[in-house]
Amino acid sequence: MTHDFVHNNLPSRVVFAVGARTRLPEEIDRLGLHRLIVVCTPAQADLAADLTSPLGGKIAELHPHATMHVPVAVAAKAIARSREIDADGCIAIGGGSAIGLAKAIARDTGLPIVALPTTYAGSEMTTVWGLTDAARKTTGRDQRVLPVTVIYDPQLTVTLPPALSITSGMNALAHSAESLYAPDRSPITSLIAAESVRALADALPRLVTDPHDMGARADALYGAWLAGSALGATTMSLHHKLCHILGGTFDLPHAETHTAVLPHVLAVNLPAAPQARTALESALRAADPADHLFHLANNLGAEMSLKALGMPEDGLRTVIDQALAAPYANPTPVREAELDHLLGNAFVGAPPT
Ligand code: NAD
Repeated sequence: MTHDFVHNNLPSRVVFAVGARTRLPEEIDRLGLHRLIVVCTPAQADLAADLTSPLGGKIAELHPHATMHVPVAVAAKAIARSREIDADGCIAIGGGSAIGLAKAIARDTGLPIVALPTTYAGSEMTTVWGLTDAARKTTGRDQRVLPVTVIYDPQLTVTLPPALSITSGMNALAHSAESLYAPDRSPITSLIAAESVRALADALPRLVTDPHDMGARADALYGAWLAGSALGATTMSLHHKLCHILGGTFDLPHAETHTAVLPHVLAVNLPAAPQARTALESALRAADPADHLFHLANNLGAEMSLKALGMPEDGLRTVIDQALAAPYANPTPVREAELDHLLGNAFVGAPPT
């Protein structure tokens, strides 16, 4: 085999254990932080207050205003508050929305982030930031937005409803699947991605059977950590591009959109990505990874139709135009006919063809 690759390790500290949330004070001490802004969604304000109460006077502000896709106005307010209170660090508690808001703060102020993820979105392991303005989502990479410390506690994910557990897990699977055919993949990112797919595909059915199964929660979060790591080290392709457009343009829910789109993109891309296909076949123990992932999610109750998620029928044209406008890496050339075909299937929730 010919080995020819470049691999960059991202510098972050990961603390992973059932009960690890109680180690937050020692991790904050380790970083020498004293005036913290805590960001979360409104729904997780009580959880954030509970988790950070042992930090006492070090918490300068609880800012429970995170919303999906980081609207610029929400980001501007959080950045302004960080400056007003003279924060020296930011704690993000929640899923990709809370971590996304923390990233917006860090990108502007350089504040270090300590993240306690409560979904499987994986944003905490990447340097990718996103902002949405006037129905357009912009993303970029900046080393400053990578959390310096991530505390993974599977107990924090127990309250994640089964439906969101499945779609969030599919979101993580999408990171790993796309990293397997990324132009800048390396042997390490491919090993990480394959292990992530194995762990997630094994855990998701167990979570539906028993959402309190701590072994399954730990396996899913472990898979999500690996998926975020693979995503953070590679370039995203067609799948992530389409989901960014769909989320930013129609405000579609993030994890659900990834779930509905992934099987269709894989059906188009895997014939041109034999290494990724072999890795997915082996990790999923399935002859047709695209079809297998469609039925895995569908059988576990996920909504597979973009129409049902709120996409307007006349929106297909907008998505195709935006997807064709900016070139990006993809194993197969992205042409109008393929986009029309795969988005048509995803729109109605049909299996990939
Ligand atoms: P989210 O953070 O919006 O959470 C969805 C809902 O679930 C919210 O209402 C939240 O309060 C609730 N929730 C979260 N954890 C919970 C728990 N344990 N129990 C009960 N309720 C819980 O959703 P998400 O899918 O985690 O994140 C989506 C956002 O993250 C999008 O904006 C997406 O673009 C971004 N994202 C970014 C990256 C990146 O690398 N930059 C990667 C993945 C996702």
